[in-house]
Amino acid sequence: MKKLFKILYFIIFILLILFFFLKEVDLKNMFYKNVKEVEKPTDILVLVNKNNKLSKNYVPEDLENINIKYSNEGKMLRKEAKEAFEKLSEDALKLGYKVIAVSGYRDYDYQDNLFNYYVDKYGEEYALSCSAKAGHSEHQTGLAVDVMGSNNSYDDFEMSDEFEWMSTNSYKYGFILRYPSGKENITGFKYEPWHYRYVGYDVAKYIYENNLVFEEYIKDNNLD
Ligand SMILES: [Zn+2]
Repeated sequence: MKKLFKILYFIIFILLILFFFLKEVDLKNMFYKNVKEVEKPTDILVLVNKNNKLSKNYVPEDLENINIKYSNEGKMLRKEAKEAFEKLSEDALKLGYKVIAVSGYRDYDYQDNLFNYYVDKYGEEYALSCSAKAGHSEHQTGLAVDVMGSNNSYDDFEMSDEFEWMSTNSYKYGFILRYPSGKENITGFKYEPWHYRYVGYDVAKYIYENNLVFEEYIKDNNLD
């Protein structure tokens, strides 16, 4: 009987390894395949990810600098997103929280250099795991913002009090946590507690309340 259990455990163990291995292979095959160029890049609900890319020439026409009170110097977002972010940051400030933009709009060439820098320095696999290829970054839409909190670090944003506040309040200003933990196989990006995407209040509220990621919202509403 004991031997039988041992064999059973062994089989389960092998199946688990196989499952994770196949999942990993599947992930690699899913992304950057059948890439489509985005048709309406100015749409507030534009979907940009590893399968949907922006043209090299796309630059939003309504970019504006975020007020230095809420941002590092020279960070831009599209007008509607900028105004929403400034309101979010101001309201946070009134409660003693500091939500500061550290990255906003990034152009195609900037992203190209950034991705290639990671490839040269750490290899392609690493680059693919932490950065987007040019045209595939949401930052080119002018609707995505990376933030830091009062611990002054965006990659440790999760450790800040501001993260907790953002988790339950960002949707009220039209922003969603774009790359949550546990949805990497859908978004194609690892968990990024600092990266927020403007989609407008109604959609942000819906996504927040239904615990979705943007890809799921787009698919459920036949917007792709
Ligand atoms: Zn980002």
